[in-house]
Order: sequence, then structure tokens, then C-alpha cells
Amino acid sequence: MTDRFHIKLAGGNVAFDCASDDTLLRGGLRQGLGLAYECNVGACGSCKFDLVDGEVDDLFPAAPGLKPKERERGKRLACQCVPRSDCTIKIRSGEEYVSDHVPRKMQARLIAKRALTHDISEFSFATGEAAQFLPGQYALLRLEGIGQARAYSMSNLANADGTWQFIIRKVPAGIVSNALFDTLQVGSELELDGPYGIAYLRPQIPRPIVCIAGGSGLAPVLSIIRGTRDAGGLRGIPQLLYGGRGPGDIPDIAAMLSVSGVEAGIHPVVSMPELAPVAAWSGDVGFVHEFVPKKLGQPLTAYEYYLAGPPPMIEACVRMLVAEHNVPSTQIHFDRFF
Ligand SMILES: Cc1cc2nc3c(=O)[nH]c(=O)nc-3n(C[C@H](O)[C@H](O)[C@H](O)COP(=O)(O)OP(=O)(O)OC[C@H]3O[C@@H](n4cnc5c(N)ncnc54)[C@H](O)[C@@H]3O)c2cc1C
Repeated sequence: MTDRFHIKLAGGNVAFDCASDDTLLRGGLRQGLGLAYECNVGACGSCKFDLVDGEVDDLFPAAPGLKPKERERGKRLACQCVPRSDCTIKIRSGEEYVSDHVPRKMQARLIAKRALTHDISEFSFATGEAAQFLPGQYALLRLEGIGQARAYSMSNLANADGTWQFIIRKVPAGIVSNALFDTLQVGSELELDGPYGIAYLRPQIPRPIVCIAGGSGLAPVLSIIRGTRDAGGLRGIPQLLYGGRGPGDIPDIAAMLSVSGVEAGIHPVVSMPELAPVAAWSGDVGFVHEFVPKKLGQPLTAYEYYLAGPPPMIEACVRMLVAEHNVPSTQIHFDRFF
């Protein structure tokens, strides 16, 4: 049986109800509160909180988002704790965490699966209602029989048909990605919970946009570039720098965007050209962040940046933009794919 508990935020009058099978973070976001977060899967630590009173269960006590010292001091992660009683919690919050679309759990049916590279496929799901999210956001997918959910970013745009598309990399020995590739058949259902994420397209900002993605980070930046089509205020053609390990890791991005009728400058970069399966690679070689200054025509402070991919890639990009080129951190939006 699902109970509902009353969760009070310390030091004010704000409170929300949270179901006993929902985490404190998602319970609060579902009620329109701006609780601080980023990854939603226990890795980034942005949603850490103090339990002032009440009881919670920690679903992922070994979550890497907290340092041992923080655990000793009683810190917990709101994305991994479910309530066992009414509680008072102390947690960071802000307007920027309030989503235009309140996240909800839905049943979603797999309607198509299409290979894009040797280990990346596009998955399309249908829900019975309009798909509402901002370009760049993600959803949590949970398969029956697997307790843990994983975050995957949408690659399409909000639509009335209820189609949610994802571009997913099969991680060697990864629990959920392997189940999606090998077990989930067209016609099967899973739970889709979303939308989440704060690295979404800001169409009101008139600076030209630059997307930088690596590996499995392609989905949100495709959605953002697709989203520029309807955002008339954005100046210039969006630029996409995409890094893969070998030439076989680079999907046909131009074809994917041309289907949507969107123009973009596409700059693929590989770090290990010797992994070429068939033809030799004649394009750029190195790490994707190294090519940002070379590919853009204006001072780097002139652009708005959207980044998605593995944490080391994001950290290298942010360091390069902020420390070497004085780009204000407010012009950089990112999701680290833990
Ligand atoms: C915001 C965000 C967006 C993402 N978008 C994409 C995308 O568009 N495409 C894509 O391919 N990948 C994406 N990822 C990565 C994806 O969520 C998975 O990490 C990846 O598919 C590997 O999952 P796995 O189960 O196959 O691998 P596993 O190795 O089994 O799991 C790896 C991940 O699961 C977490 N984990 C392990 N145990 C638990 C537990 N008990 N409870 C909760 N979490 C646990 C780990 O911290 C680690 O992050 C995204 C990640 C984030 C955070």
C-alpha cells in the first residue's frame, strides 16, 4: 500500500506531500517546487539534504554523490530517499529548478528501435497522451523486474502524438542499457518518469548556440538544435561539436537533422582514428573541447553553450571556456551523464 507523507522544508512555510514509493526530490518536483538537483540517479550530489526530523529509507546507500565525510555528518540524497513518516528537511532550492512541465510517471510502449552505430540505437516510445518536455530534458526509464531506473535524454521535441525518442549507448555489462537493447521488444512497456533536467534550451537568450557532446550525449543536443527551428529569436546557425572514440562511433548526424529540416554546423572529432572499421578517418583528431576555439568565428564569450556527455568531457569543456576564454558560467548549461 502507498502512504502519503507531509514533507516540510526547514526555515519557512513550504511543504509538500510525498508518496511512500517516491523519492523526496521527485515528490517535491511533481508539486512544482524548485528543489536543487541535476542527475537524479545519486551521482552528482546536487540534491543533498539534512533530515531535521522524521524517517526516510535510503535506496542507494553507496551512491557516489556523497563523500564518506558528508555521510558521517548525516547528509543524504533527496533523489535516493523515500519517506517513512512525515519529515522536515533542509535542502537547497531555486527558481531555476522549477520545470515548465511537472514530471509524471507514465506507461510507455516501445514502438521502434533503430541502430545508429555499432553500439548506439534510437528508441521510440509512445504514451497515450501528449509528450511535454523542453528540448534538452531527460526522463527516467524503469523496466519491469529491474529495480533501478536510469536517466535518458529525449532527442525529439514535445509533440501531441505522445512520442518520446531516446538515443542510447549500450554500456558493456550495463544493467539497464543492455536490457533495453537485448530484452525489450517492440510492443513491450516500461515506466517513463519525466521530464527532468535543467540543461534545456533557453530560446529567450539571443546569443548563437553551440552544442558540445560526447559519446551517448547526442540526444539532448539534437533536441536543442531541433528546438531552435521554432525559436525565431536565436541568431545564426547552431554549431554542434561531437566527439567519439573511433570513426565508427560517429552517427550520421547530418541525416538525422535534415529529416527535421534543421540546419546546423556539424563538427565530428575522434580521439582514436586507428579504431576505423572500414575507411581511414580524414577528419579532426583529438578531444572535442580542443576544437571549440578553432571552429567558432567569434570570441567564445559571444555564444550560449549546451553540453552533454561523460563528466571528464564536461569538466574539460567548462575549464576551457571559463578559465581560458572568460565565458561566464551562466552561459554554460550541462548534463553530466554519470
Ligand atoms: C541526466 C542524464 C542523462 C543521460 N542521458 C543519456 C542518454 O541520452 N543516452 C545514454 O545512452 N545514456 C544517458 N545517460 C547515462 C544512463 O543513465 C546510464 O548511466 C547508462 O545507460 C548506463 O546504465 P546501465 O544500467 O546500462 O549501466 P550500469 O553500469 O549498470 O549503471 C551505471 C549507472 O547506474 C548508477 N547506479 C548503479 N547502481 C544504482 C542504484 N542502485 N540505484 C540507482 N543508480 C544506480 C551508477 O551510479 C551509474 O550512474 C544519462 C545519464 C544522466 C545522469
